Amino acid sequence: MEPRIVSPSVFVETVRSVLDTQDPVGLHEPSIGGLEKQLVVECLDSTLVSSIGPFVQELEEQIKRVTGAGEAIAVTNGTIALQVALFAAGVRSGDEVIVPALSFVATANAVSHAGAVPYFVDVDSVSLGLDPEILRQVLATCVVEGDSLINPTTGRRVSAIVPMHTIGHPARISEICEIADEFGVPVVEDAAESLGSFSHGKHTGTFGLLGVISFNGNKIVTSGGGGVIITDDKVLAQKIRHLTTTAKVPHSWRFFHDEIAWNFRMPNLNAALGVAQLRKLPEFLNNKRLLADSYKAAFEQISGIDFISEPPGTESNYWLSSVILKPEFAAERDELLEAAIADGIQCRPLWEPLPTLPMYSGAPRTDIGNTLEIQSRVISLPSSAFLGRKG
Ligand SMILES: *Cc1c(COP(=O)(O)O)cnc(C)c1O
Repeated sequence: MEPRIVSPSVFVETVRSVLDTQDPVGLHEPSIGGLEKQLVVECLDSTLVSSIGPFVQELEEQIKRVTGAGEAIAVTNGTIALQVALFAAGVRSGDEVIVPALSFVATANAVSHAGAVPYFVDVDSVSLGLDPEILRQVLATCVVEGDSLINPTTGRRVSAIVPMHTIGHPARISEICEIADEFGVPVVEDAAESLGSFSHGKHTGTFGLLGVISFNGNKIVTSGGGGVIITDDKVLAQKIRHLTTTAKVPHSWRFFHDEIAWNFRMPNLNAALGVAQLRKLPEFLNNKRLLADSYKAAFEQISGIDFISEPPGTESNYWLSSVILKPEFAAERDELLEAAIADGIQCRPLWEPLPTLPMYSGAPRTDIGNTLEIQSRVISLPSSAFLGRKG
């Protein structure tokens, strides 16, 4: 028998030593204070609670400032943002879209809702994001027909690539975009988890043609539910704004709509909450980094478990502080998870690899060795921003 790396009780004690409380602790809870209440009440008092109102535009301005993107369009959630961004990037029914095998299910679902089929590509073990070398191999096996790139195995057009920044840590996004450019395939970044994360000084979501950020309740900043599409392309942004607001042609009283469109605009009531939260983003980022530093120091004492630090050259928002077991101890992960959860500490594994889910088991994919290996060893720890405050 291999010696145990760490007993479940030592794991629980190590996490507790950072949390500094014996109470139950959630994986990721929002910090809602006076400013959030003030702006939501202000919104209610104005009666502009729905799709028209000043907070939506203010939220878009804040996102442009934080990310450096030229354009931002607020919508009802991150999944919808991805679906619309894919459509705007030119993805059509029957296409294939390259998606990392390790992601939240929404990444693949958005591709399906856009009418396309996800093509799952393995991740790289340092960044936890789409592996650029494997991406290159995949694209190199495709054949050029006119201005399309065709997957010779399925006969489908590969019309977009969707890298994702796992737990807030930036993927190798410059390399991915360079390769995508070489093959003429647009990149739509799933930056749902990485608001406030930078790669070589540039905000995640601004490398590709389009990027998407989520404001779900468990993300670093929440609007209750919500999402935003960012881009530097003014024409594309105009098109997205039109398509997400019923394609109504501006007029003071006439109802004229010039194409089949959606009603995906973020409600002003949600935007009011989002605006308050975005003003606190620098504080949240600071607290989450302090929390990550504390976990890192605590787990340095435990051999066999490593804290997952931001990849070199990047600045992560540390959305979820996570640890990874050494490969030889992967079998013990579930015991550690169970012990923490039994003690009231809401730890979680990463998502089940997407090609192993029933609805995606038949989808095209590369070998997913790294994805399986990483997924079996990672534990995400309680990461709410307020947990880092005392540091
Ligand atoms: C949260 C998340 C989404 C979806 O965002 P919603 O706002 O919840 O729809 C998409 N992709 C990833 C990687 C996410 O973590």
